[in-house]
Amino acid sequence: MTGEYVALMTCADCKAGFAECPECVNSVRIDPATGYPPDVVVIDGKSKHNPNPNPEAVRRSVARPVCDPCVTHRNEVLQGGTPEGAHIVGVTMLAAERHRRHHRE
Ligand SMILES: [Zn+2]
Ligand SMILES: [Zn+2]
Repeated sequence: MTGEYVALMTCADCKAGFAECPECVNSVRIDPATGYPPDVVVIDGKSKHNPNPNPEAVRRSVARPVCDPCVTHRNEVLQGGTPEGAHIVGVTMLAAERHRRHHRE
């Protein structure tokens, strides 16, 4: 019997508490010095993609869990092609869906 274990986490994006399988949860790398991913720069309150992230920021960044509602929102932003989504590199599978596939056998 595996795969029915969930852990309580705090979303790196919306700061909400949620319960997810720690093996399947989506994560982003966050630079603790800024609270943003190392490849994001914030200009006038809008996040922009930084193609040349500071190697120091990349090194000190840590993986933080992201809840499915936030992943859904990022996917929608990306599909909408709005500039706010420019730093998102790809549509991400939801943790719930990954969990279902990952633990099927
Ligand atoms: Zn969230
Ligand atoms: Zn899982």
